[in-house]
Amino acid sequence: MTSLVRSLIRPVRWGDRLSRALQVLGNWLQLRQDAIRCLQWAVVAIYYVLLIVPAIFPPGSGAGSLEQLAVWAEVLFWAVWWPGVLVFTLLFGQFWCGVFCPDGTVTEFASRRGLGSKIPGWVRKPAWALMAIAVTTLYEHLSHAYSSPRAILLSLGLTSLLALVCGLLMGRSKRVWCRYLCPVGSIFSLMARCAVLQFKVDRGRWDGAPKPLPRAVDCPLLLDVRRLRGNEKCSMCGRCSGHRDAVRLGYRWPGSEIVNLGVADLRNSDVFGVLGVMIGLFFSVSHASPIVRLMTDMVRLPFLPSQTWLAVSLATAAIAILLWVALYLISGTSVQLAKHLSYGLIPVGAGGMILVAFHYSLELFQRVGLAFGAAAQALGNLLILGTAGWSIVLGAMILRRSGRSGSCVRVACYVAMVGGVAALFVAV
Ligand code: SF4
Repeated sequence: MTSLVRSLIRPVRWGDRLSRALQVLGNWLQLRQDAIRCLQWAVVAIYYVLLIVPAIFPPGSGAGSLEQLAVWAEVLFWAVWWPGVLVFTLLFGQFWCGVFCPDGTVTEFASRRGLGSKIPGWVRKPAWALMAIAVTTLYEHLSHAYSSPRAILLSLGLTSLLALVCGLLMGRSKRVWCRYLCPVGSIFSLMARCAVLQFKVDRGRWDGAPKPLPRAVDCPLLLDVRRLRGNEKCSMCGRCSGHRDAVRLGYRWPGSEIVNLGVADLRNSDVFGVLGVMIGLFFSVSHASPIVRLMTDMVRLPFLPSQTWLAVSLATAAIAILLWVALYLISGTSVQLAKHLSYGLIPVGAGGMILVAFHYSLELFQRVGLAFGAAAQALGNLLILGTAGWSIVLGAMILRRSGRSGSCVRVACYVAMVGGVAALFVAV
């Protein structure tokens, strides 16, 4: 009886419990790959139903209840699924990619039966995926593809087809598409660096594992699991969990990976991904954006049939350059520190992306008679406020870690810059 009372009043070690629960989850993912494969094919079926049904029965097609079904399919796809995936990836990592993504399932399936060729050097360039997401987003926004289910089917269907072809040509039972070419994956890799979950490797245990050693990890993303230090590119599939009793799913404080990046980890492509794609592109694609209107006035040339593409591209470049100059000045003209600080903008950039998705969700909900009014506006503002605050904390920690003098002034300038970005997101 006394021991029962003692156990009830003993302080609960939530950290230990959480670690154990995460380890169980990671090991479950590793052990139940058969169940995950079934789940993946179910997601493939649902995904294509949600894409194809609205394209066959668009609004005004006169298909009666099928048309209504198509509207709900659109709501599910754009108002629930897409914002949900963005939020989940930012907070918990790329589980969507490793466990659910239909393109990942298709490319890996094709790769098991394909040619299994070596991956050419040009495929490994990070620029492809970033260019692909920039072009896709521009196309979807400027052609109003979101209100045209057929245009969306064309855009996402083409992506699936390319993933299939990539699997048929390259790698053996791998996801070459996800690692190097997936347009969305390029942005998810950046967002996942902020996540609170990560597959952690204990190098001591790994190297000292008793013989006979288990078979090498079959990482579908072709990662060197032994040297895994972060979430970038890890699709959280869990296949390495428990390997050599050294790999386990664990938690960390949000953004620690970003603050602890070393000089060798900083990449120009990531800087472009954050400043040019996440921030620049996502608020310059709004036609109401003052910077796009300004650029449209500036490029009003008689021989150009449509100035919008050019105006948006120039606006994106202008925003990216302005942000880079600001970061360069804040860092005291240190290119390395400016690059590092740009990673700190990932949360607010992701917040902008989620806000765009959120606004579109509201439009869709309105179409089916659900209006959220002022509460939705407040939620959107709260989202930007929260992600801006997160970026500010990361920037301040990066500046403190750099050991540069005058860090208070630098932090104040960084706060002003993030505040400016957030204000523009809310205003646009
Ligand atoms: S390191 Fe590879 S095997 Fe392990 S969870 Fe990430 S993607 Fe899967």
